[in-house]
Amino acid sequence: MTESRAVTRTVAAGSTVVCKHCEHQIKFAAKTQSRQVIANVYVDGVWKQVEHFHASCYDEAGQPYGDPAA
Ligand SMILES: [Zn+2]
Repeated sequence: MTESRAVTRTVAAGSTVVCKHCEHQIKFAAKTQSRQVIANVYVDGVWKQVEHFHASCYDEAGQPYGDPAA
């Protein structure tokens, strides 16, 4: 697949990634099963980068890479 797409995942323990939208770290929280959106971004059919979002931030950003797959 060569189109940008997004998936929803639970945040892994020890995660150190930063949310693209709010620029805060996406922290693992065992109690709340925090969720993140991971987007594989393609430009002109070529993979460019992975972007991470808090699930709520992804919605707030207007779902830039479409409805995230579970
Ligand atoms: Zn965020």
